[in-house]
Order: sequence, then structure tokens, then C-alpha cells
Amino acid sequence: MIYDAIVVGAGPAGLTSAIYLRRANKTVLVLDGNGYGGQIVNTGKVENYPGFKSVTGKELADNMYEQAKDLGAKFKFERVINVSSDKTVTTDKDSYKGRCVIIAVGRTTKSSFDTYLGRGLSYCATCDGNFFKKKDVAVVGDGLSAVEDSLYLSNICNKVYLINKKDSFRESIKDIEDVSNIEILLNTSIKTIGGENVVESITLSDGRTIPVSGVFIANGAFPNNDMFRDLIDVKENGYFDEKLFPRTKTEGIYIAGDCVDKELRQLTTATSDGSVAATVAIREMKGE
Ligand SMILES: Cc1cc2nc3c(=O)[nH]c(=O)nc-3n(C[C@H](O)[C@H](O)[C@H](O)COP(=O)(O)OP(=O)(O)OC[C@H]3O[C@@H](n4cnc5c(N)ncnc54)[C@H](O)[C@@H]3O)c2cc1C
Repeated sequence: MIYDAIVVGAGPAGLTSAIYLRRANKTVLVLDGNGYGGQIVNTGKVENYPGFKSVTGKELADNMYEQAKDLGAKFKFERVINVSSDKTVTTDKDSYKGRCVIIAVGRTTKSSFDTYLGRGLSYCATCDGNFFKKKDVAVVGDGLSAVEDSLYLSNICNKVYLINKKDSFRESIKDIEDVSNIEILLNTSIKTIGGENVVESITLSDGRTIPVSGVFIANGAFPNNDMFRDLIDVKENGYFDEKLFPRTKTEGIYIAGDCVDKELRQLTTATSDGSVAATVAIREMKGE
């Protein structure tokens, strides 16, 4: 069988694409190597997705998955290992043919402190900053995200420690230099996190222990894009080039979600991308 569309990734972007494709009566196969829901299944509370005052990430993912499935999207939980320009998608188990492919592979977060994830450790200041109102927090990183996250959190938190293991930043820090509640700590890194159930303190490689309620890892997310380099332009930072969004240099291959270079990686932007990619794909589908 040739599917009208194959969606790679069953995160919020891919699931939204599936919903839009099915509502346009297109046959859809969604492939994911880890189950459905993407990054959001790892978050306890989501409080910034319009329409839901407070919802668990798992509940939101379940709803999106059920909606796509009830509309008739087909799911296979297989890891994609190759996509070719003729829209053949190969997984670790089989291969499938589509008339178009939407790549929504998102990104993976990783640090050595992941046991504290959702218990004070976060990869997303915009998502979780509000849970640390008037508290002291640490941000880890040496690039633009670390600088932006620190600035964002300085409006919410009592004090922000920006921890950089190097002696300088990759980006200008002029926006945060004069912010009174941001303290920059250079040439040091977090050695251990203290706290029985939740983050209570950090101990740095220089021996200092600082009480904090939250740790934001600004340099711990990696787009899952490497295998698509032949089909899609990947920028130096690892993200898909957004210039032709949702199209790519390969006809019939579209991109959506956190794997694309953009200003803000959130549920609202991922689902928005998924709907745009599906709608453009439907419009441009060949061979009807
Ligand atoms: C801990 C945490 C908390 C968050 N909290 C919030 C929040 O409160 N509010 C908010 O708006 N946003 C939040 N976010 C961000 C939000 O989860 C992401 O912006 C959103 O999930 C992006 O959706 P996506 O579909 O683009 O990518 P992802 O969610 O990353 O999904 C991509 C999917 O593709 C799959 N995949 C990758 N490679 C392959 C492959 N080769 N073959 C098959 N499948 C593949 C993955 O398994 C995954 O399921 C949070 C993120 C994290 C990590």
C-alpha cells in the first residue's frame, strides 16, 4: 500500500499533522521509535497550553493520540532509520511508501541529573519557570539559550545563578549584565544536586554548595536530525533550516515541530507547525 502521508514522529507536531491529514481524508501512517507523545510525556504539569488550565503531559499526549487514532491514522512503533527522496521510509522492522513524508522528530533532552526531572530539574524555562516563583534557581549553559533563560527567569524568580563551565559565553551577555538578581558563575559546573525528593541545593566543581529549588539545563537538548541531512538542509546548530518551512529542498518532504530552527519550542508552536505542514502537504499532494 502507498500511504498518502507518512509522518515520522508521534510527538505533538506529528500527531497534529495526523489529525489534519485524516480530517482531509488522507491515508496516514505515523511512525515512532519510542511510543507516542514525544517530550511531553515526561512532564508532570502543563499550564500554558490554551484550553487546559492544568493538565499532565501524559493526559495531553493520550488525548492527542486517541484523537488521531479515532480519526483513522495508523500507528506503528518502529524507529525510522532512513527516508529516501522517493518517499520510501525504512524502519528497524520494515519499509513503507508514502506520497509525501512529514518529518517531526523533535529533540532529545539529556543530562546526568535526569533523576530529578520534574522534581526541580527542567530543560525549559518558558514551560516551568512559573513553578519557581520567588525561588532561587540555577541555569546551566554557555550559549544564547542560557542567557535568554536567565533573563526570562529573572522576572519570576528571586535569584538566578547562571553557571558556565567555561570562562566566557558564546553569545553576548549584555542583556543580563545589569540585571541585579542574576549572578554569573564562570569556570565551574554542577557536580551534584542535593535533595531527597526534590532539588534543594547544588554543589559546584569549585566546592561551593548553593541552596536552589530549581535547575534549568539550557544546553541539554539535541535535535534528532542527523540522518536526514541528504534530504533537508541542517544548520550548524543541528536544527532543520526554516527558510522553506514547512517545505524542504526535497519535494514532498515536509518538516514540523521542535526539530526546526525557530524562536520558541513549545506545544503551541509544535502543534501549529504540524497543522501547517499537513495543510501544505495536502495542497501539494501529487497523483490524485
Ligand atoms: C520535560 C519537558 C517539559 C516540557 N513542558 C512543556 C510545557 O509545560 N509546555 C509546553 O508548551 N512545552 C513543554 N515542553 C516542550 C514540548 O514538549 C515540545 O515543544 C514538544 O513536545 C515538541 O513536539 P514535537 O512533536 O516537535 O517533538 P517531540 O515531542 O520531541 O516528539 C518527537 C517524536 O519523534 C520521535 N522520533 C525521533 N526520532 C525518530 C526516529 N528516527 N524514528 C521514529 N521516531 C522518532 C520521538 O520518539 C518523539 O516521540 C516540555 C519539554 C520537556 C522536555
